[in-house]
Amino acid sequence: MADKHYSRREFIRQNSLAGAGAILASGLAPNVFASGKRQASVPALLGGSPAANFNWPHWPMWNPETDEKLLLESVRSGVWSRQKIVSQFEKEWANAAGAKRCLTVVNGTNALIVSLIQLGIGAGDEVIVPPYTYIASPQSILVTGAIPVFVDTDPVTFQIDPTKIEAKITSRTKAIMPVHLGGFPADMKQIMAIARKHNLIVIEDACQAHLAEYNNQKVGTFGHAGCFSFQNSKNLPIGEGGAIVSNDDQFIDRCHSYHNLGFPYGTTIGSVSSGATLLGNKLRLTEYQAAIGLAQLKRLDSQTTTRTTNAEYLSSKLRHIPGILPIQAYPETTRAVYHLYCFRYKKEEFKGLSRDAFIKAMDAEGVSCYGGYTQLNLMPFIKDAFQTKNFVRTYSKKRLNYATYLEHNQCPQNDILCNEEAVWFNQRFFLTGKPEMDAIYNAIEKIHSNAERLKNADSK
Ligand SMILES: *Cc1c(COP(=O)(O)O)cnc(C)c1O
Repeated sequence: MADKHYSRREFIRQNSLAGAGAILASGLAPNVFASGKRQASVPALLGGSPAANFNWPHWPMWNPETDEKLLLESVRSGVWSRQKIVSQFEKEWANAAGAKRCLTVVNGTNALIVSLIQLGIGAGDEVIVPPYTYIASPQSILVTGAIPVFVDTDPVTFQIDPTKIEAKITSRTKAIMPVHLGGFPADMKQIMAIARKHNLIVIEDACQAHLAEYNNQKVGTFGHAGCFSFQNSKNLPIGEGGAIVSNDDQFIDRCHSYHNLGFPYGTTIGSVSSGATLLGNKLRLTEYQAAIGLAQLKRLDSQTTTRTTNAEYLSSKLRHIPGILPIQAYPETTRAVYHLYCFRYKKEEFKGLSRDAFIKAMDAEGVSCYGGYTQLNLMPFIKDAFQTKNFVRTYSKKRLNYATYLEHNQCPQNDILCNEEAVWFNQRFFLTGKPEMDAIYNAIEKIHSNAERLKNADSK
């Protein structure tokens, strides 16, 4: 069950700040306060009582009694560089992820970079990627010298739209990097079929999708490599950390060698004549990080079940509020793990109340939410990469024409999600129970019923 670790003080601080600002802004509060009672049916932003009058769980969770023994042992032993605890974590994560092998690295970004490099992707290549993802997905492609090619998002599922992939394949396309956004599997049946047809490599960005399943198979095991992140916010948090999983021994051996300055490992022994040392980098996890990972791994499955149960209950209720469209899973999804709870907000159904104003009103209700990602396909880091020496010396002027690139990478559905419709809740909200889900529902319902008044207050 969910560990509860609430901080009352922080909750009161956050909410009194939001409340005070809102009261000043709305100009309606004095009447409400004059009556001496804050009504539950009135939006908190207009002086009513907040729908969520309790503390949400903190993240990450930590239980000194169960979590500290191995950590302290590792710290006190003085063996801090990778050794047996890292190997044990790799074995256990491979097992949990349903893969034959696992290699840990310093973070999810480098899990992607190492996978791309060891699958032969680099200068001159194109990699297909969705624009609705964390910046690390396209950055990892650019770091290898390849060019990310964006395929628009399906707004119903928030995932890469598989029907739009083939139109973006050229003779230079080497790989597809599907992202299992929010802990929901991308449409792997379609994606793998396209990859087979065009002989493309598939690297799954599963950084948000620990234990998610499609057709009863864990994500990260469909393609040539699956990449995970153990960053602080992720469902399996270490602070920083990442992993590559695969069923291909030679590939993981090469990744292992690479993450340790090219020193030989497993089947890489003897791959080059002089000293068997390959080109490498240094990306090793530490023993104490692995000790934290092992502690967190023990609660991952039950936390995942709690999240999914609560999120599905919330979705069943939210379907009754017009203008709130929770993320939908592909029919083959057998486990969605809700790293994010994403939904689309249609302001037409809220009397034109803007998404920003909706988020502000939710904040006042004690249910913080976010507008999600910005348009990655239009962000200046790509232009910057195009101006680096490696790119300038690899590609023709024509291919590095940024205006042409932008034109070929338009994603109109994704623009609507980013700029107008997407809203997210943090996964930790779902480590609670029904009363907390009811509070989220009540907050949204209250805003829906009072949308006109909120809109008028917002435009003042
Ligand atoms: C977090 C994340 C990454 C990067 O992982 P880090 O461990 O933060 O480097 C990559 N892709 C996605 C989709 C992520 O959410």
